[in-house]
Amino acid sequence: MVKAAVLYEPKQRMPIVDLEQESPKPGEVRVRMAAAGICASDHHVMMGETSFPMPIVLGHEGAGVVDEIGEGVTTVKKGDRCILSFVANCGHCRSCRTGSPQICDTNRLTGTRQYDGTFRLKDSDGTEIHQFAKLGVFAESIVVPHQACFPVADDVPMDVASLIGCSVTTGVGGVINQPSITSGMTVAVFGSGGVGLNAIQGARLLNASKIIAVDIHDHKLEFTYKFGATDVINSRAEDPAKKIQELTDGGVDFAFDTFGASITTEQMMDSLRKGGTGVLVGLAPEGMTAGVNLVDLVRNQKTLLGSYYGSASPHETFGKLVDFYKKGMIDVDSLITRRYSLGEINEAYDALARGEDGRGVIVFD
Ligand SMILES: [Zn+2]
Ligand SMILES: [Zn+2]
Repeated sequence: MVKAAVLYEPKQRMPIVDLEQESPKPGEVRVRMAAAGICASDHHVMMGETSFPMPIVLGHEGAGVVDEIGEGVTTVKKGDRCILSFVANCGHCRSCRTGSPQICDTNRLTGTRQYDGTFRLKDSDGTEIHQFAKLGVFAESIVVPHQACFPVADDVPMDVASLIGCSVTTGVGGVINQPSITSGMTVAVFGSGGVGLNAIQGARLLNASKIIAVDIHDHKLEFTYKFGATDVINSRAEDPAKKIQELTDGGVDFAFDTFGASITTEQMMDSLRKGGTGVLVGLAPEGMTAGVNLVDLVRNQKTLLGSYYGSASPHETFGKLVDFYKKGMIDVDSLITRRYSLGEINEAYDALARGEDGRGVIVFD
């Protein structure tokens, strides 16, 4: 039996339930969870803004220790400490073959089930339980594809490793993996949640000449200075695009929308200089669209891009980020502002919904 937080219906609290867990099948491993991050993508599912099959164990930002391996697994062994990837890519679909494993086709087709289309969890009624992103890290132990595991050395703390699994890779990776971004550019980052703070420190890593943080909470903006923001704008108090143009003599080279909404994407595009690039990183609620000024896009030769999971192979980005962390070039420790037990999962999401600074992490015994 494993304890897990199960979402049975949107907008309901998640009870901690004892679930029956099957052993890993060929190509799978079992991971004892050590730390799991409180990310907004799970909150979208809880609120019914993104539809997912239920019941489901949420959580996709985590780290743990491999404690059992299935037949044929050679990439990890029992006892390995791992960062978990929420896209355990198949390795042979068109996206994987063409160098974009972060948008693996097969992974999406099988979704919240394992690659053979079946489940590893059920409750006492025999109801089969989905695992978010094939992970569902809000559980003491998880059975996942071996591709989800990226081994890390003992000197990387588990809470840090868990954050590299989503927010650090999405934020820092989404900035540093853009092929046309270079040192000295001006950057604006919309949203200063977990991903936003990481996009800010990704821009600092690239020696951006200006890093402008935009948010609606003053306390969150204050927190962004720690990660490299040079200027901050409260978009409730003033028009961010106008202010950014003033600060940069006509607009930024690169802007990132880490929040993911019509208004922030529109503001992001309006804040670019001629020839500038807007990168949408945050996942918006399903069905949301944005109004893009088509004349502005053409006349000013702007680019609008989407970036998923750091725009590159997650394992490649994990490796770089672990290295940056060890050298003190990125700050992951200060991102972690609150720690919870699994039983406090609902309170942890209440804090996220209230807009508290930094990241909450569930620490397992
Ligand atoms: Zn996430
Ligand atoms: Zn694939």
